[in-house]
Amino acid sequence: MALKDIIILPDTQLRLVSKPVETVTPEVRQLVDDMFQTMYDAPGIGLAAIQVAQPLRLITMDLAKRDENGDTNPQPRVFINPEIIAKSDELSVYEEGCLSIPEYYEEVERPAKVRVRFLDINGKVHEEEAEGLYATCIQHEIDHLNGVLFIDYLSKLKRDRVMKKFSKAAKRAAE
Ligand code: ZN
Repeated sequence: MALKDIIILPDTQLRLVSKPVETVTPEVRQLVDDMFQTMYDAPGIGLAAIQVAQPLRLITMDLAKRDENGDTNPQPRVFINPEIIAKSDELSVYEEGCLSIPEYYEEVERPAKVRVRFLDINGKVHEEEAEGLYATCIQHEIDHLNGVLFIDYLSKLKRDRVMKKFSKAAKRAAE
């Protein structure tokens, strides 16, 4: 396994539309392992392949809660070529963040429940109802596969402000 660099706003690769995974090759399995390592190291609860500069429709996730001792029982999940096939009219609001937009959090309103279809690491098709944090996280990550970021749901004023902040930081880092 290897840690990958997470690409950060305003990297334009974040706006790419990722391509479907045709077959789960050893390279894809390696990428999934690397994504888990990178996600746990960050730490984060979800990661799309494009965030490590791989434009493939591939997501890793772990929504396991920490207990009082701060220990977690890992629940690693992989979603290959995931799609939302139904969404509720009911909406819910969650404060979202993104490993590609570090230390920035804002409330986003999304469908409270979605039905998601995806392949697992063995290429088997699954369909699941997602609600709560799972629903928010899977919608956020699938957005990444389509070049969409959670800041796209904010007001233009807020979005412009965060873009400016990250553009300035990138310029400073390049100097
Ligand atoms: Zn994100």
